[in-house]
Amino acid sequence: MIYKNLFIHIMLRNIQPKNNDAFYRYKMPVLEIKKNCKNTILLNLSEISKSLNCPIIIIPKYLSITLGTIVKHNKKDNTTIIKGIFNTDSLNSALDTFIELFILCKKCKYPELFYEKNNARCQSCGEYFKLPSHKITKLFETKSLINNKPKEEFTVLPENIDEEEVVWYSDTSKKAMIERRNEFLK
Ligand SMILES: [Zn+2]
Repeated sequence: MIYKNLFIHIMLRNIQPKNNDAFYRYKMPVLEIKKNCKNTILLNLSEISKSLNCPIIIIPKYLSITLGTIVKHNKKDNTTIIKGIFNTDSLNSALDTFIELFILCKKCKYPELFYEKNNARCQSCGEYFKLPSHKITKLFETKSLINNKPKEEFTVLPENIDEEEVVWYSDTSKKAMIERRNEFLK
């Protein structure tokens, strides 16, 4: 039998937190989380970043600061590993706060911002406002950064941790990560 219509079902939610309007047109995938004994793994942060028109380097940096831990993104298998166990509610809450602070227009709540230094201009309603003062604000300084290609792989450390001291408890080789992801998707 030939299946002509094969759909991959992706759970979507509104980008604007707490907005349950089914007709709100800005959607993003629901955060997919997996845990092992030492780490929390985000399986689709790169897809979420794309939906938010935000380079993948920014959200791991924000999570590292907010959660006070090490966050490692591997573009090859699109996984983001957070050192330590974090529950779904706290991760979604951190992501929602990030969206409110940096992605949504303060006035119309649409994710239509164009970034200029420490300010943002809404391309939907024209509102011009200052971005909140935060350690990641400088990452939004230029629109050119927004368009930069992300690095293949990078690790974000909380500012008081020395990279020399970092010990990964689980196997983070590409093969192991792909195996873990495949196992999750079974
Ligand atoms: Zn607006």
